[in-house]
Amino acid sequence: MAPLRVAALEPLTDPALAPPVPETGLDALTVGRRIRHHRQAKGWTLAQLGEEVGAAQSQLSQVENGKREPRLSLITAVARALGVTPSDLLDPAPPPSRRAALEIELDHAQRSPLARTLGLPEVRSSRKLPTDALEALVELHRELARRHDASNATPEEARRANTEIRMLMRAVDNHLPEIEELAEDLVRAAGYTVGALTHRQVARMAGDLGFSIIHVEDLPHSTRTVTDLAHGRIYLPPASIPGGHGLRSLALQAIAHRVLEHERPASYTQFLRQRLEINYFAACCLLPRSAAVEFLSAAKADKDLAVEDFRDAFGVTHEAAAHRLTNLLTSHLGIPVHFLRVGDDGALYRGYENDGVPFPEDSSGAIEGQPVCRRWTARTVFDVRNRTTENYQYTDTPAGTFWCSSQTGSSDDGGFSITVGVPYAHAKWFRGRDTRVRTKSTCPEAACCRRPPEGVAERWADQAWPSARLHAQTLAPLPSGRFPGVDDLEVYSFLDSHAPRTQGPPDA
Ligand SMILES: [Zn+2]
Repeated sequence: MAPLRVAALEPLTDPALAPPVPETGLDALTVGRRIRHHRQAKGWTLAQLGEEVGAAQSQLSQVENGKREPRLSLITAVARALGVTPSDLLDPAPPPSRRAALEIELDHAQRSPLARTLGLPEVRSSRKLPTDALEALVELHRELARRHDASNATPEEARRANTEIRMLMRAVDNHLPEIEELAEDLVRAAGYTVGALTHRQVARMAGDLGFSIIHVEDLPHSTRTVTDLAHGRIYLPPASIPGGHGLRSLALQAIAHRVLEHERPASYTQFLRQRLEINYFAACCLLPRSAAVEFLSAAKADKDLAVEDFRDAFGVTHEAAAHRLTNLLTSHLGIPVHFLRVGDDGALYRGYENDGVPFPEDSSGAIEGQPVCRRWTARTVFDVRNRTTENYQYTDTPAGTFWCSSQTGSSDDGGFSITVGVPYAHAKWFRGRDTRVRTKSTCPEAACCRRPPEGVAERWADQAWPSARLHAQTLAPLPSGRFPGVDDLEVYSFLDSHAPRTQGPPDA
């Protein structure tokens, strides 16, 4: 096949915005269609033109169909024979007729990666193809591309926006002083002094802003809270389980939209930014800066910093306490830090770092859904029997040694671990610094923890047939091994441990 310009292979997006014919440069198909147009206008057959220019009919046919890039000498000869100038044939745009434009568009669409992925049969846009059928095919391809783009745009956009915001927050050490200040003033005005913020204080905060908190059974499924600005009401889900910080947090987030003067978000990035700010505000209220920094500074002085103590002192979840540490440790105690929430499937769900720990990333720099190294504390903790307290571990990575503290939990979506870690030099401030547990990670090298051992791989490569979970495929778009989204090492180890002991696998 003739070398085609990359532009011709780009997927067809919005035909109105991105004409399939490249604006500049030589496109074999466009040139071919122009030759065909002028040949047919003259009423010549391919054989006649071939005779005139001294080229084989088959060669000209390939040129006209864009399968072969014509040499300049042939173009000059063809132009002379057809009574046009070479630049008439080389002019990339606009196409000479509506019919030719449709033919070019159909050919481009049929060669697009989308059409190839779908394995659609190719229709040759020969003269026998009626123009209305050609129009219908082109229209179908446009609609197909439009639907494909629409279904693709949201997750793509979401990943980009997530990464952008993570980078912004990293640059400010995950610390937003204005929101800290605002929250501090509001909780103090509501009577807060030390320890956990009470439900009563949250209700008073809402009241100070002219709102009452009302628990209802029938909140819309797509909402977490709804605020009635006209009547000054914040609707929350029913308070079925007393205690915990979930409801206080939801009420505070609803209040946050108001005090931070949020407008309806105009973009996904803005939506995420607002989401980050209301979470930040709620965290600042539940673990107010003055009280939190005082507590943490005392623990640091005693070389006894621990997420679990911080959690218990303020009556919040382990995750909320761990995440709040990332706001305060660097900005107020001079300690760089990282935080991860990892599922029991090994995927990173939420992460923050300003200490250089090498998070797994995809090609766009996004970390969400990426598999975390099996040797990291966030994953080794799942193998620990006693999970009632935090687990501590040193991990050697290509970016240096880190000390980490991990705690597991479970939710409706399965098990998860919450990890806080710091570079080796800062471990001295933390409880658990004396752990003897130490692992070595060389990720992202495949040999670290993703490639199955040679003997095991040989044994199972042709004997394993795992069926991938949709969930795993969505989160891990990069194929590992033969089955997209399936982890060969996990599958082979599973097969090894469950295989009948008395006989080998069939045909082995
Ligand atoms: Zn690894």
